[in-house]
Amino acid sequence: MKILVINAGSSSLKYQLIDMENETLLAKGLCERIGIDGHLKHSPLVGGKPVFNEDLPMPTHAEAIAAVIDKLTSAEYGVVASMKEIDAVGHRVVHGGEKFACSVKIDDAVMAALDECTPFAPLHNPANITGINACKAVMGDVPMVAVFDTAFHQTMPSKAYMYAVPYEYYENDGVRRYGFHGTSHRYVSSRCAELMGKPIEELKIISCHLGNGSSLAAIKNGKCVDTSMGFTPLVGLPMGTRCGDLDPGVMQYLMAKYDMDIDKMLNILNKKSGVQGISGISSDFRDLEKGATEGNERAKLALEMFSYWVAKVAGSYAAAMNGVDAIIFTAGVGENGPDTRKAVLDYLAFLGIEVDAAANAKRGEDIMISTADSKVKAFVIPTNEELVIARDTAEIVG
Ligand code: AMP
Repeated sequence: MKILVINAGSSSLKYQLIDMENETLLAKGLCERIGIDGHLKHSPLVGGKPVFNEDLPMPTHAEAIAAVIDKLTSAEYGVVASMKEIDAVGHRVVHGGEKFACSVKIDDAVMAALDECTPFAPLHNPANITGINACKAVMGDVPMVAVFDTAFHQTMPSKAYMYAVPYEYYENDGVRRYGFHGTSHRYVSSRCAELMGKPIEELKIISCHLGNGSSLAAIKNGKCVDTSMGFTPLVGLPMGTRCGDLDPGVMQYLMAKYDMDIDKMLNILNKKSGVQGISGISSDFRDLEKGATEGNERAKLALEMFSYWVAKVAGSYAAAMNGVDAIIFTAGVGENGPDTRKAVLDYLAFLGIEVDAAANAKRGEDIMISTADSKVKAFVIPTNEELVIARDTAEIVG
């Protein structure tokens, strides 16, 4: 079975074609500047075919999907003979609200429910829905599945997902913690159980997805019991450009003082804050590490704040689960930042974690970075959200 995985943004669309027989990645690519002019980078990964990397007109997502199908099936760049070989499409959808606690086959009722979730993710869900509609237009009745960033977190107990605001805002308006990065937390936690040779139902895991956006999840017996992002992905840890947790009073104070409206304030908290805002240099940890090495105090502070927050939230999750067996690092910083990992794990040494310095310096697949006799194990596990989407799609349509 061959599955096309689609991650549609407002002006971009990422894709992978995966052969589920042995989970081989056949091709991947990215459409950019959809609705502006259009550019496609298509990389076939089998059969020695060349990369296609050129401008192509893409007035809408439908032309983008058509271009993707054209390249996947073309003699020069293709990896399948025709569209008929694509058995199903798996779509990443950001927000499933409380309606979706797992992946679902897309039908008219699901499309209507996705629309209802749009107010929770006004920038992301419409793009995901556009991607689904474009696929339907180009691919006809090929079965499609929606896989939600929020679904994995639906197992949280109410004490973890409720905000202490008047209860009717939850009942009437759906105001609660939803959490994001669920597909990633789910993938790395199940891989961690495999690596530990134990059923996930017997493990307490803290998963640290540290990238441009960052979140932690507490996963007890295979179920998420808490996570650091909330109603939106703005809260929790300080991130690349997002502020993380903030006293709402700060907003009121700054908005009044600088005569800012809420959109301007939120733009600052989403795009100009986090380690970028603190350092004044960059949101990229490579730049911050270079800056800190060269004596830039604010770059150093940004890095210190980040690892402090990861450790502080992880410590609270050890309390929430009454213990922890393993800590996982994944995503851009988690997979590539040994200094950040070490700083976080040093804070958590009291839990019985001992870092293996040589292992922590390695790069590559699935590495245990704690010593063999460390009470709590630590791992670097590269995330693979597309594979989870493809697996769910294959299982649901298969
Ligand atoms: P992601 O959102 O998962 O794609 O992560 C992107 C972030 O990972 C970048 O903004 C960098 O801060 C970080 N990153 C990527 N490569 C490295 C590296 N070699 N060392 C430190 N941080 C890295």
